[in-house]
Amino acid sequence: MDRSEALTLVEPHLTKARFEHTKRVAETATKLAKMYGHDTIQADLAAIFHDYAKNRNKDELRQWIVKESLPQHLLSYHHELWHGPVGAILVKKELGIDNEAVLSAIRWHTTGKAGMSLLDKIVFLADYIEPGRQFPGVEEVRTVADNDLNLGCWLASRNTISFLMSKNQPIYPDTFHAYNDLLLQIN
Ligand code: GDP
Ligand code: FE
Ligand code: FE
Ligand code: FE
Repeated sequence: MDRSEALTLVEPHLTKARFEHTKRVAETATKLAKMYGHDTIQADLAAIFHDYAKNRNKDELRQWIVKESLPQHLLSYHHELWHGPVGAILVKKELGIDNEAVLSAIRWHTTGKAGMSLLDKIVFLADYIEPGRQFPGVEEVRTVADNDLNLGCWLASRNTISFLMSKNQPIYPDTFHAYNDLLLQIN
């Protein structure tokens, strides 16, 4: 599948703003892939599909989690965490994407996990640093991302956890697992 076909498939499922975000994540993921020695075409495609389920309503997302073999404890956490795992299932069912590396990057893009692949990390970080993002600390992560992928991912994961803790929000276990595992990978 080429990028224009992928964009055409994704566009009707997203709001205008979400589609613009998606294109910026794809450009950023392509850059990171070039820098860190990953196939750029695959990184671009994974990024194009990463938020495929983002604009589905909560009830539909919930139903997919119940019907498919996804961890049911997702339902006890914020619905913001559901679109990655459900997105990986829906791009397979609805678009026929069956590349496991791409599905994994979509699946884990919000929380991360221990043992992320290079592509998982590229999409996770590109989603955090794409040029439209404005949250505190993002500029530092952008600078680090140019030199050290693991450190960039770890900072993104640390910032997300700090932000959620400052709001007294629950933190999904894989979000902590990503933080701990990335810490072991940075020197
Ligand atoms: P987006 O889909 O492009 O908006 O970005 P993401 O998929 O990365 O993230 C969506 C939201 O999930 C962000 O606001 C994160 O702060 C939030 N998030 C990430 N990890 C966790 C977590 O463990 N718990 C909760 N409650 N929210 C999280
Ligand atoms: Fe997302
Ligand atoms: Fe993210
Ligand atoms: Fe995103």
